[in-house]
Amino acid sequence: MLLDCAIIGGGPAGLSAALVVGRGRKQVIVFDNELPRNRVTQESHGFITNDGMTPFEIRQAGEADLQKYPHIQIKRSQIVDIQKERGKLYVTNTRGGCIRRKKKSFWQLDLQDILPEIEGIHDVYGKTLFSCPFCDGWELKEKALALIAENQRALHMAKLLSNWTKDLIVFTNGHMLAEEDKTLLTAHSIQVIDVPIVSIDHDNGQLRSLQLANGEIVNREGGFLSQVNSSSQPHLPKSLAVK
Ligand SMILES: Cc1cc2nc3c(=O)[nH]c(=O)nc-3n(C[C@H](O)[C@H](O)[C@H](O)COP(=O)(O)OP(=O)(O)OC[C@H]3O[C@@H](n4cnc5c(N)ncnc54)[C@H](O)[C@@H]3O)c2cc1C
Repeated sequence: MLLDCAIIGGGPAGLSAALVVGRGRKQVIVFDNELPRNRVTQESHGFITNDGMTPFEIRQAGEADLQKYPHIQIKRSQIVDIQKERGKLYVTNTRGGCIRRKKKSFWQLDLQDILPEIEGIHDVYGKTLFSCPFCDGWELKEKALALIAENQRALHMAKLLSNWTKDLIVFTNGHMLAEEDKTLLTAHSIQVIDVPIVSIDHDNGQLRSLQLANGEIVNREGGFLSQVNSSSQPHLPKSLAVK
């Protein structure tokens, strides 16, 4: 099948791209394997007209917008390979290994979160522990918060979070923070705990406390992570020599 444009990823970005390209009278196909990074969260915030909707509801509304354009198709499948040959792109999906030819393709970075290995962390992530203060800080404002920061973004994240709460503790989970960063945080009454975290205690996703390797239990009401995320499929853009 020869189409004008393949979009890999049917999240808000991919659906918006499909709308614009489709309105430009191009034949478009969107592939999505239904594994968005924010699938753990119950409410999405800060996206005008959709504030507080679930990520699933936002997708449904986006797909509904596309329904009036019959030349835009959405396929639930994963793209495993893209090849370029004689000016055309060959996009391969997992459904029976079928090959489709396109002139253009867009793909999303497929960011997936890498959470620290702490017992209980997956139970609270997306409920009372988040990664983006602008997305979820409002719901946790003025609460006793933890910032779990194993990297040098601790200072930056702590500064940001002080907009939402004055009761913040930075947990480095056994990692060392630069001495000057530690001094700055302490000067702003932000405690830094560098003992490793053993587990997170919670009630149905509501974070209650962090248990440390020295036996101490620190009560908190929610928190943020300064974690790293990475793509699980860096080979796709690389196959087109895109960095
Ligand atoms: C816990 C959490 C809470 C968040 N809260 C907010 C918030 O409140 N507000 C906000 O603006 N943002 C929030 N985010 C960020 C949010 O994920 C993005 O804003 C939004 O989902 C980005 O949309 P997107 O279309 O770029 O990516 P996504 O929504 O992640 O969509 C990408 C899609 O591409 C698909 N895909 C990837 N690779 C392939 C492939 N090879 N083949 C087929 N399909 C593929 C994925 O399965 C996914 O469905 C949050 C993130 C997390 C982790």
